[in-house]
Amino acid sequence: MKKALVTGGNRGIGFAITQGLMAEGFEVYLGARDWQLGEQAAIEAGAQFVQLDVSNPESIRAAVNEIQAVDVLVNNAGVLGSGGVLDSEQEFAISMATMVHGPFLLMHLLAPAMIENNYGRIVNISSDWGLFSEGMKGPGGYGVAKAALNALTFSAASSLPNNVKVNAMCPGWVNTRMGGFGSERPPEKGAETAIWLATLPETGPTGKFFRDKNEMAW
Ligand code: NAP
Repeated sequence: MKKALVTGGNRGIGFAITQGLMAEGFEVYLGARDWQLGEQAAIEAGAQFVQLDVSNPESIRAAVNEIQAVDVLVNNAGVLGSGGVLDSEQEFAISMATMVHGPFLLMHLLAPAMIENNYGRIVNISSDWGLFSEGMKGPGGYGVAKAALNALTFSAASSLPNNVKVNAMCPGWVNTRMGGFGSERPPEKGAETAIWLATLPETGPTGKFFRDKNEMAW
C-alpha cells in the first residue's frame, strides 16, 4: 500500500486531499499542528494522525522520524497574512517558514527514500498569486512565499530523478477558512488537481505549475 503525508490536513483543502487519497487506496498520514483537531480529523477520514507544525523544524524532524518514508508528500499547510508585503517582519517570517522552509525541509528529509525507491510524487499546494505571470498578489508575504515555493518546485525537479516528480498547483478560489466562504468551489474540487498530481504515471510531468490540471506559465 502506498503511503502519503498531507500537511495541514485537519481542515479545508488538506482534509479533502486526505479523503481523496484515502479513496485512492493510500495509507495517509494527516499532519496537523494541533493534536486535538488533528486526531479528530484523522478519525473522521480514517487516516493516521501525525503531529506536525511545518513552521517548526524540530516538529518536522520528529514527524519524519515517526513516519520514516512516504511515496507521496503533499505540502498543503498555508497561512494568508495581512497588509502589505513590507508591513510586518513577523508575518513575513511566518509566511516563509510555513510555505517555503517547511516544504523545503520535508522534501529534503523525505526525497532520499523516494530516490532510493525510484518512486515519489511531491505536490506543492501553491497559488496563482505566487505567479509572476499573474501579478503576484495576496496580503503580506503570501505572494512572495508562494513564488518561492514555485521556485523551489522548479529547481528541485531538475535535481530529482524523473520518477520522483515534484509539481506545484493552485486549487482555485475555494470555500475554506482561508478562501473565505464566498466561493462556491468546494474543497473537494480544489483537491482534484492535487490528487491527480499525487497519482501521476511515470510519463507524467515534473517541475510544472497547474490549475485545474492545466499547465500555467510561472
Ligand atoms: P485553511 O482552511 O485556512 O487551512 C489551512 C491549513 O493549514 C489548516 O489545516 C492549518 O492548520 C494549516 N496550517 C497553517 N499553518 C500551519 C503550520 N505551521 N503547521 C501545520 N499546519 C498549518 O486553508 P485552505 O484554503 O484549505 O488552504 C490550503 C492550501 O491551499 C494553502 O496552502 C493555501 O495557500 C492554498 N490555497 C487556497 C486557496 C483558497 O481559495 N482557499 C487559493 C489558493 C491557494 P490550523 O487548523 O492549525 O490553523
